[in-house]
Amino acid sequence: MSPARGCAHLTAQAYVMEQVAEYVAAVGGMRPVPCGACMAYEDGERGVLAAYPPEFDPALDPPSSEEERGAALRAAVAEFLARTRCASVTILAPARPDAAPPDAAVRTDAYAFLPLPLQTPGGKLRNMLRRAERECVIAAEAWGEDHAALLRDFCRSHALDEGARIVHTRIDRYLASCPEAVLFAARARSDARLLALAVGEYSSLTTAFYMFAARAPFCPPGVADALLRALAREAERRGHSQLNLGLGVNEGIRRFKRKWGQARLLPYVETTWRRAPRAEGAAGRQAPAVAAPAPPVGPLAAYAAPGWGERLRRAVFGDARPFDCLQVEVTSHCPGRCGYCPHTTRRESWRSRHMTEEIFAALHPLARRARRVHLQGWGEPLLNPRFFDFAAAARRVGCAVSTTTCGAAVTGEAARKLVACGLDIVAFSLTGVNEAGNAARAGIPLAAVAAGIHALREARRQAARSLPQIHVAYLLLASQVEEVAGLPDLMARLGADAAVVSTLDYIAAPEWEHEAFVPGDERTPHALETLRRAAARAEADGRRIHYGLPGVTPLAECAERIRSCLYVDADGMLSPCVYCNPPTAGEDERRRVFGDIRRAAPLKIWTSPAFAAFRDAQAHGQPDAPCASCPKRFGRLR
Ligand code: SF4
Ligand code: SF4
Repeated sequence: MSPARGCAHLTAQAYVMEQVAEYVAAVGGMRPVPCGACMAYEDGERGVLAAYPPEFDPALDPPSSEEERGAALRAAVAEFLARTRCASVTILAPARPDAAPPDAAVRTDAYAFLPLPLQTPGGKLRNMLRRAERECVIAAEAWGEDHAALLRDFCRSHALDEGARIVHTRIDRYLASCPEAVLFAARARSDARLLALAVGEYSSLTTAFYMFAARAPFCPPGVADALLRALAREAERRGHSQLNLGLGVNEGIRRFKRKWGQARLLPYVETTWRRAPRAEGAAGRQAPAVAAPAPPVGPLAAYAAPGWGERLRRAVFGDARPFDCLQVEVTSHCPGRCGYCPHTTRRESWRSRHMTEEIFAALHPLARRARRVHLQGWGEPLLNPRFFDFAAAARRVGCAVSTTTCGAAVTGEAARKLVACGLDIVAFSLTGVNEAGNAARAGIPLAAVAAGIHALREARRQAARSLPQIHVAYLLLASQVEEVAGLPDLMARLGADAAVVSTLDYIAAPEWEHEAFVPGDERTPHALETLRRAAARAEADGRRIHYGLPGVTPLAECAERIRSCLYVDADGMLSPCVYCNPPTAGEDERRRVFGDIRRAAPLKIWTSPAFAAFRDAQAHGQPDAPCASCPKRFGRLR
């Protein structure tokens, strides 16, 4: 028997998704447990109570009084806390439960309900629906291979984490386990291609649910609205009085909901804390509350980890991350004197400063939309005293986090923190495989880099962790091509997992021009052959060398992938790439800065006409001056 079967009486009264036992059991992987008038879930460690007793149902007519609601909520929470033996408890409720300790983690949102039958849509929406009807046919369907394929594409384009990906593979299981879940599909009239799908849930007697929707990239406008209307019409046919559209989720979904006349809101408050284990023989007594790990406070509080409900919502609605990488100059202080770096060649005008936590906090709207945050610009990132807090904050909002360091600051304590804060890659900069080859990196001997790598490997071993991966960020100087043949041996000696070989693409002073590879460079074929051989040797040893030299033909997007990556300096100024904004005072004709996140919302800066025009110019083969001769625009030969 399905574990949700004994909860049918509660599902029949459901008015929020988390009361639909089959749904949470199938996609969330938790075991439903009836708890008085409410639904609870457990997975051994965690207990979750959907504390929405019938008194809060927006469809109640007449509605219950404040006193009745408060009493019902208190009773539901008390019963759950008395019963559950889980160490971690989460209460989903219309209000923060009185029983929660003061330092419990709290997240808030609201469900949106549309009364049924749906109101007649306004002019603009009506036109969209007409257009959608001209282009597609909507019908209920059984799950099939093209639904799964659309979902797979949706997962790929929305950068879901592993957990969310697994949940997506369970949508078919949910449809199979819940007879009242209906899959609606929109297919093109012309060739029956699947354009979009949505799942409606009709197990409750009063409330229908808009559970899940996904569109193909080529889906015409209005199709999502047409699917929602089809789903609502099915609910009207079955006699439901309201449609729960789910939580706010994000601005796009909120806009979509507003179009349909969002009539009623019901608060969603997710409260989580940990409790001490119960003492033997104390069954039935409420264990004293133990504080959960303190949620981040101060400016970095914006980087709170997603709660249980949000993780479930992300799993269902996706976790769209349009940015591949946000590169952050956490500091421009540096102990190095690398000859090819403007820190050395323009030292009189160099501006050394750390990024503050206020500026890092203001980056949150970009970070939570980025797959990766790379904490390094010009300078040695580990010199910023808040480096580890920034890294941990970015990890909390689901980003992969990496950095590149000169290695001098990776001592035992810093190495332990690098492991603990959740970085997935730490790259160590080199220009050669021995001290002579590294002479260009004055002030940072290879021995110091090797000691840093050793410290990090040791910290990783002590923590029994495989991350962060240790990479070598190897700058290939054109006069030292033969040197790279020794890279596989050096990697083996150091215990590096991979190396990324780059070329000198920013010329800080004319005397370094000969060390750069330019498009069509006659030295390129020999360098490529040397790199290929080195990569093959490394691969035979189980290590990877990634490399690429400038090609001949300009591409529509440079190697910095400026349509999905961007750079922010320590002052909070946004640029397309690190080369467009070195931290030097005074005029720089190569500088391109499009906004200051202390004064404008970062997403507004990203979409501003000037920033968009910079990207478009490159895409249309008419790049702005700094890009015109930049080797990064000429692809990478391998
Ligand atoms: S290349 Fe990096 S380590 Fe070397 S001086 Fe410049 S900022 Fe410092
Ligand atoms: S082509 Fe332009 S945007 Fe791309 S790396 Fe070069 S300077 Fe930066």
